[in-house]
Amino acid sequence: MREFVKFYQKKWDERLQLLRKNDCLKSMEEALLRKQAINFSLNDTIVENYITDYTLPEGLSFHYLIDNQKYIIPMVTEEPSVIAASSHGAALVEKAGGFTTELHERLLLGQVIIEKVQDAQKFCSYLETQFPRLLEIANQAHPSLLRRKGGARWLRCRILSAHIISLDLAVDVREAMGANMMNTMLEAVAQVLEQSIKGQVLLSVLSNYATECLVSAKCKLPFNILEKNNLSGKQVADKIALASRVAQLDPYRAATHNKGIMNGIDAVIIATGNDWRAIESGAHAFAARSGQYRGLSTWEIKDGYLVGKITIPAPVGVVGGSIGIVPLVAVNQKLAHIKSARELEKVIASVGLAQNLAALYALVTEGIQHGHMNLQLKSLVLAAGAHLEEVLPVVESLRKTGKRDAGSAKKALQDYRKRRDEQ
Ligand code: NDP
Repeated sequence: MREFVKFYQKKWDERLQLLRKNDCLKSMEEALLRKQAINFSLNDTIVENYITDYTLPEGLSFHYLIDNQKYIIPMVTEEPSVIAASSHGAALVEKAGGFTTELHERLLLGQVIIEKVQDAQKFCSYLETQFPRLLEIANQAHPSLLRRKGGARWLRCRILSAHIISLDLAVDVREAMGANMMNTMLEAVAQVLEQSIKGQVLLSVLSNYATECLVSAKCKLPFNILEKNNLSGKQVADKIALASRVAQLDPYRAATHNKGIMNGIDAVIIATGNDWRAIESGAHAFAARSGQYRGLSTWEIKDGYLVGKITIPAPVGVVGGSIGIVPLVAVNQKLAHIKSARELEKVIASVGLAQNLAALYALVTEGIQHGHMNLQLKSLVLAAGAHLEEVLPVVESLRKTGKRDAGSAKKALQDYRKRRDEQ
């Protein structure tokens, strides 16, 4: 691998040539990398060792009525049926008056971990006397936040073991996600801790377990809108409530329940230029807050309605990070009419609940494969090597066979080509 030393110092063109020279690429593959590198000058500055742009499809989800306001939701995902399911879930809720949401607080948390503490209780008590000074240090490290009416709000000390403590800092990061701002503030606090308080700092960084940045969405569905084939609306509602209870009881089911929720949330997070790894880790940590991993949403029968609720940590931003850099993010914010981080929080909680409703509705009625696989057929046929103009006719013949595997997709494609060539 010596030939790749200081790859990042080479020009983009030289990097691709080097890959060719070392037999990592054939000419067709190199041509594809070049063709896909649409924003190479911008993206070469965003990531290290850049070679090309990896694009994902973007679509729109409709029917969202959130706190009496209509939204069109841009979603970026590679998974077929996510956007259709989102629109389906949202349409059911729209018929029932839409989502209502609640923002609990909007603070980001960060930690300074202090090690080799002799007497943790005593050290915490002493640290508490220093909180006003430490809050001031944090604010001085990023003064523009104060000008925006944000800034460091509070500190707390948690004893993690006999000799390790966590000093937690809560910051109002206004319209940003705030990771970098928080880390700057934490490092300033850590420096003072080491220099004048004589604490030994192990590390300082934000926490993605964003328990002080929670948002909830709720919806209330009359049974009649849930009727499906030979099942009454009440029967469907009972089954959804029971499926939700299973996701509270069983981590195996809960993980899949939450994956469905994150299908929608991640797609909006990516479309709005936010950090989906941060949202994912926070959501799953929150799902395990009781000590057992559980479903993030619940559905229950109450006063003759099916009532769905979700609460998630949503430390998202509408400025900062890559939001101002990736040109499509501004377009997506405009499409969705999202102007504030709080509004985006409400949207993602509602999308998570809509996505979950659509998945549970399908699961307890006709099964997930019916709708899902119809859309997956296109991917199957493309993966079998179909050209774009061949996809629809081959999907149609594959559908008629009732088969859904890669071998059958290849055979359907071969048969289609044979029929076409014989004509
Ligand atoms: P930035 O570092 O870009 O900071 C936010 C920027 O937005 C600042 O420059 C700020 O200006 C500007 N800004 C403009 N208007 C506002 C406003 N109304 N409210 C707040 N800020 C405003 O981004 P973040 O601090 O948000 O960090 C997010 C990035 O950090 C993401 O890319 C994430 O991937 C990454 N990250 C995530 C980590 C994690 O999750 N564990 C760890 C480290 C990084 P000014 O400078 O004037 O205040």
